[in-house]
Amino acid sequence: MKRILKAIKNRLPESALERLRGVQALLRGVPYRKPGACHCHCCGRSFVGYMPIGKRIDTDVLFAANTGKAHVAHSICPYCRSLPRHRAEARLIAGWLDAGTTPQRVLAFAPEKAVLAYLHKLGLRPVTADLIADNVDIHVDIEDTKLPKNSFDLIICNHVLEHVHNCGKALAELHRILAPGGVLLCTVPMDYNREHTLEDASARSAAQRLKTFGQADHVRLFGKDIIPLLASVFDMEIFDGSRTDPVNIPLVGPSALDYNLVFVCRKTKQPPVRGHT
Ligand SMILES: [Zn+2]
Repeated sequence: MKRILKAIKNRLPESALERLRGVQALLRGVPYRKPGACHCHCCGRSFVGYMPIGKRIDTDVLFAANTGKAHVAHSICPYCRSLPRHRAEARLIAGWLDAGTTPQRVLAFAPEKAVLAYLHKLGLRPVTADLIADNVDIHVDIEDTKLPKNSFDLIICNHVLEHVHNCGKALAELHRILAPGGVLLCTVPMDYNREHTLEDASARSAAQRLKTFGQADHVRLFGKDIIPLLASVFDMEIFDGSRTDPVNIPLVGPSALDYNLVFVCRKTKQPPVRGHT
């Protein structure tokens, strides 16, 4: 039976699979939707608990990072499927709106549904971008987007930099297309016990990358040196979602290598030298 289901699944188009995953998540979320103290900043709903992440990153990398099973147990909103990083960013953006600042020109790289839904709810219409995904407005290489300089007030870039070939070049490009005073919201999976980012050119196959970096399509595992790297390009503050708004419980976790840290990177500095890693 399992084999038959797998064969059917393999023949379905990605759009149908996505719908199927949505139905599965909907059903899995039922027990978590009872009234309770948890509150999701993305969809604005309250409920009794967050859902676990379905697939654990069960590798040596995760355990080397000293994060455990418990950390992935409570992460996903049972209504909108937001993750802690999405709720942290929603919290930040809501704070700007309360202060009377509304970003008009928004760009979302590798856009995630919960964040997009939240932005749409605010009346914002972000340009969505990706190198290869189908369901975006523009296909661009984040290292060289060809977009005009100074063209966005807000760029959202969640869990992208661990995939790109030259991280320094990507940051320089993000700086270039950001308007003066504009903000890049950036999150990455990182090992907080690691001082230096791990890059290993010998890890070429999917299996090697999974074992080395924690995911088959990652090309690095960030350590704490992501912080000075970002600060060398932007005026950067760290928003720690875990320490925010305990009454509304917008966040739980960390989950896997996601520590609920949002890097809030403002463009006030001079352009960095392009191309450094
Ligand atoms: Zn939600």
